[in-house]
Parts: sequence; structure tokens; C-alpha cells
Amino acid sequence: MDLKALIRDIPDFPQPGIVFRDITTLLRDPDGLRHTIDVLAERCNDLNVDLVVGMESRGFIFGAPLAYQLKAGFIPVRKPGKLPAAVHSVEYDLEYGTDRLEIHQDAASPPARVLIVDDVIATGGTAAATAQLVQCTGCELAGFGFIIELTGLNGRAKLPDAPIISLLEY
Ligand code: IMP
Repeated sequence: MDLKALIRDIPDFPQPGIVFRDITTLLRDPDGLRHTIDVLAERCNDLNVDLVVGMESRGFIFGAPLAYQLKAGFIPVRKPGKLPAAVHSVEYDLEYGTDRLEIHQDAASPPARVLIVDDVIATGGTAAATAQLVQCTGCELAGFGFIIELTGLNGRAKLPDAPIISLLEY
């Protein structure tokens, strides 16, 4: 199935010169959505995943059904101030300024194996920060799963050593 055909390119979003890969057109397609989750699950099957971590907010959309398919649990990583219990918090650099992501301190504990999932890896900053949060829990990083990898930005170079699965490259 041609998943790229279901992804829409939006030029100059969120700012001039950026081509935004819009996955909402993939999500609304019943066969496309099912196929995406099925293929990602198949590719992650050998990683022995106990828990899937998804980043707010598009990581939730793919992470939860993937966790279901892998018979794993799901953990949300959220923007600051959203999680109600005690958190680990990591600051990371954006193009202009910094941002912060959080995980519940008791979300995961060893010897769980954790897979990090997001829709897109661009510069790798978001996924690298999430990997730091997983490291705070003491759990083992089983790998990373992305629907789209923007290869020109070489985001994978920022990630710690673990398998990286991406379904589509641009
Ligand atoms: P990074 O931290 O630079 O790797 O950016 C990844 C984050 O930005 C992910 O959470 C994505 O959801 C979002 N993102 C960056 N570029 C795109 C895009 O072209 N389409 C959709 N999301 C994007």
C-alpha cells in the first residue's frame, strides 16, 4: 500500500520555507490507518516491547494503537504541567528557545523494555529528550518507531544507540 500517497504536503507551514508533512489525511483513511499500525507493529515485533511511550500529541495517535497491537502498555509523555503526579522533566533545544517534556516518575520501572513512538522525526530533539526521560526511569530503551523520517535533518544522529524504525523517508 502506498502510504506516501495518503500524506499531504503543506508548503510554508508553520513558517515560510518549511514543507509540513500532514498525516491527518492518512489518519482519516480507514485502510491507511490500519495498514500503518499493522506494518509498524510487525517491524517492532522482535524488539520485545513492554511499554510504548508516545509524545504529545501526535505520538499519542500512533502510540496507543501500536501498544494495543504489541500487547504492551502505553505511557504519555506530555508538555509541562499536564501530568498530575510527580514527574521527571527534561528541557531540550528548539530552533528558537527551549521546550520541556515530562513523564510520570512511576510510569515505568526496570526491567521493562520501552519503545518511543512519534509521527515524525525531524531534528531528533523531541525523540532525544524523550529517550532521556526513559533513561530517568531506569528502563531499557527497546527502540524508536516513526511513521516519517525527514532524513535531510539527520535527526537519528541525536538519538542514543537503539534500533530506529521509520516507515517512510523524505
Ligand atoms: P524534532 O524534534 O525536530 O525531531 O521534531 C519532531 C516533532 O515535530 C514531532 O513531534 C513532530 O510531530 C513534529 N514535526 C516536525 N516536522 C513535522 C512535519 O513535517 N509534520 C508533522 N509533524 C512534524
